[in-house]
Amino acid sequence: APQLNDADIPDHLPLSDFLFNDELRPQKCADSPTPFIDSLDGSGSSIEETRKRIEWLAAGIATHLGITDTTGDVWDRVVSVFTVNNIHTPVLAWAVHRFNGVVAPANVAFRASELAYQLKDCKARCIFTDASHLDIALEAATGAGISSSNVLLVSTPADTGCPSTNIHSFSNLEDLVNIGRRTPPLPHTRWEKGRARKQPAYLCYSSGTSGSPKGVMVSHRNIIANIMQMTLYELPLRNGTQPEVILGILPQSHIYSIILTTHCSVFRGDTVIVAAKFELRSLVKAIRKFKMTMLYVVPPILIALIKQGALTKDPTEFDLPSVKRMYCGAAPLSEELSSQIKARYPHVLLGQGYGMTESATVMASHPREVYDGSSGCVLPGLEIRLVDAGGNDVEGHNQPGEIWARGPNITLGYFKNSEATVTTYSDGWLRSGDVGEFRLHPKTGDAHLFIVDRVKELIKVSGFQVAPAELEGHLLSHSLVDDCAVIPVADERSGEVPKAVVVLSKDAGCDHRTAESEILDWVATHKSKHKHLKGGVDFVSEIPKSPSGKILRRLLRDREKDRQAQI
Ligand code: AMP
Repeated sequence: APQLNDADIPDHLPLSDFLFNDELRPQKCADSPTPFIDSLDGSGSSIEETRKRIEWLAAGIATHLGITDTTGDVWDRVVSVFTVNNIHTPVLAWAVHRFNGVVAPANVAFRASELAYQLKDCKARCIFTDASHLDIALEAATGAGISSSNVLLVSTPADTGCPSTNIHSFSNLEDLVNIGRRTPPLPHTRWEKGRARKQPAYLCYSSGTSGSPKGVMVSHRNIIANIMQMTLYELPLRNGTQPEVILGILPQSHIYSIILTTHCSVFRGDTVIVAAKFELRSLVKAIRKFKMTMLYVVPPILIALIKQGALTKDPTEFDLPSVKRMYCGAAPLSEELSSQIKARYPHVLLGQGYGMTESATVMASHPREVYDGSSGCVLPGLEIRLVDAGGNDVEGHNQPGEIWARGPNITLGYFKNSEATVTTYSDGWLRSGDVGEFRLHPKTGDAHLFIVDRVKELIKVSGFQVAPAELEGHLLSHSLVDDCAVIPVADERSGEVPKAVVVLSKDAGCDHRTAESEILDWVATHKSKHKHLKGGVDFVSEIPKSPSGKILRRLLRDREKDRQAQI
């Protein structure tokens, strides 16, 4: 892999100063196209306008919140962003950084109680949302003790339908930009060397290897480093400084999008076509209309392309003539699906990436030689160890071990959770909870990583995180449930879905069918869709546990696998 020295990664610049620095960018700002375009109405701002809007918006939000300086405590300036994808989200994030704030993105699929949990945990000062999520944001704000005057809209009321009748009483992003235009700009503070290493830019929620979702502190330099790693690594794939036109459908709240379709793209001078909703037909129309060259996807999008493509009467309906590359991540991509995509779109180079919220991108398909089924090779500037259950480094190739990673993109740790930080980040090494093995490419001899297992609790549904501990806590609050465990079961569409294994209360007084439907409803009412128990409910007399009381999840998962194999 190409070399990237730690000393070459700036540590004195806030993210946006790095992104728009003509000395560091592959292409000057003035020569770069519009960075974000709305897939529906084609709107977007040039880089020059974007930079002005960052300043105005920063001053407008600061005025609204009564912030006058760019120095105070970052944790007193957390801004939650709970919205469908839109072209304003990146500008909003850079504006928050401008007054020394931290952005806490929330999954837009959240129910009010899930959002309230996050708002309380990070002590958010205000929430930005869109019109169609205003009601959920308001309910969550009330739950977290945030005044409704600090619930702000990214869109203008006319943009989208909103169930609330009083929508006009909420300030929106354009109001704040206009306030900012009329107020003096915020003072510029020069960052001393090393500050970007410590200063958090984002607080992204992840359950890590165990427990409930926790805020991952992602520093300015973590993102700068990952941008540089990806840019250097993918250089051979680029046609000089020719801009790519990129699909922006990944949820902007997830690290995958934060890195690739928010930051890398702007730095490299590409255009991202931002799409709010996944609907295959309109997405394919947008890909063709904007002549997109590069698609960042998750496995369910590829599955939809194959499945719907097989059903359509017009065989050309899902053709993607402009697309040169697809890059799949956030969840395992099966070799079967990968071969189907390659057969359907032979002109497209299909790559994979591997990473996690705690690390951003760690691996990506080799730019010259994709090894099918592999998540790729190690990015420059990173070290990887594979460690066995006994804590020893695995020797040689084709031997599985837990993936540990160390490098400039490994995040700072969990917010207010030193116990989880110490367990997961040890001596600078991030323990991923994923098991991988290196296999040598038969032609090139390069070592490519294959993800072969996951030893952490996490369940991944269509690329979204589901923390078993969170669902178990919720189930235990139901009077029918005495004890429980939540495990993943394989699913054709979503990769995995959660299943509950439940010990019914002795006083339940109902049959298993009634209990199952009550339990399914209990989760469906309070949790976002990807957390619903699509894998069903099993009733047992006891949850297997270790002498220290830990659920023996592996045993339950193996039992489930055996059961599936018998069906
Ligand atoms: P998140 O923090 O939501 O990005 O989830 C990270 C987890 O997603 C990883 O620890 C893996 O378990 C899984 N994951 C991400 N990329 C891949 C991949 N290419 N193949 C298999 N699993 C993946």
